[in-house]
Amino acid sequence: MSTLASPPDRAKLLASLRDYVEQIREEGLEGLEGPQGSGDLEGCGGASRPTMKTSAAVAATSAGRRAVAARSDGTPAQAVAAPAPAAPATRVATGTAPARTAAAGLFATNTAYLYPELEKTADLGALREFIGECTRCKLAPMRTNLVFGVGNPKAELMFVGEAPGADEDLRGEPFVGRAGQLLTDIIERGMGMTRAEVYICNVIKCRPPENRNPEADEVAACEPFLFRQIDLVRPRVIVGLGTFAVQAVLKLKTPISKLRGTWHEVRGIKMMPTFHPAYLLRNPSEKRVVWADIQEVMKELGRPIPQRGGRG
Ligand code: SF4
Repeated sequence: MSTLASPPDRAKLLASLRDYVEQIREEGLEGLEGPQGSGDLEGCGGASRPTMKTSAAVAATSAGRRAVAARSDGTPAQAVAAPAPAAPATRVATGTAPARTAAAGLFATNTAYLYPELEKTADLGALREFIGECTRCKLAPMRTNLVFGVGNPKAELMFVGEAPGADEDLRGEPFVGRAGQLLTDIIERGMGMTRAEVYICNVIKCRPPENRNPEADEVAACEPFLFRQIDLVRPRVIVGLGTFAVQAVLKLKTPISKLRGTWHEVRGIKMMPTFHPAYLLRNPSEKRVVWADIQEVMKELGRPIPQRGGRG
């Protein structure tokens, strides 16, 4: 008897393999150890409380993380690259604004280390002008449009994703495809806010070919623009969407499944990591945990949580 799979079986096998690879891409190998819970976020409502990780657990995974420069007076943060000390994690446990500190470590998070003029940009318009028709990395010739960011330049809440996809590349706006529609549902139906009230952008401003993960040199070239956006918008809370964005911003290799649901800090601003909407499209049962993370964000912002995610 032949051991070869029949064509329909092969199709199923290929589909499973594709899902498996996508899951590894989204969560990392550690993320495969078990489900995060179940339930639905249909319309972003009716979910349980998040499983909040302990400070110690986060501190352990964050031990090598860089301290970030915080701003208490609205001036740009100044970070200094230096050997990583055995510094405590910068996870935020309270709403207290952190004091200005010098950043240290393998990854400088100041915006000036690569583009000294960047910190002279006084607002988002000036920043967009500074970026211009950017050719600072190898993604430039492959893009249709540079996807800068949209929303309220003084938003309390900022969403940061990975990089533009095909729809975003065509329209020049972040989160406008299917995943973007789900993000809009989370904002509007789940949080009772509008897209125009928040600010939405990505770590990388140009689409990587075939939606591959951005490469280290591309992140290095582009991330100063994100950090400058953060400095200029100065939101109260950042929601990091998905493994890549969160790991790139926090300079961690911890899987998103272990980071989500706990507060972190970037440039003196509280950050809540959660799953990327594209991941939720493939894994709808995880909407429940994302809704739990979003509820924590709303509590932090002092906003009421709409009954059943704002439906009805
Ligand atoms: S990805 Fe960023 S650094 Fe690279 S070309 Fe686009 S805007 Fe410039």
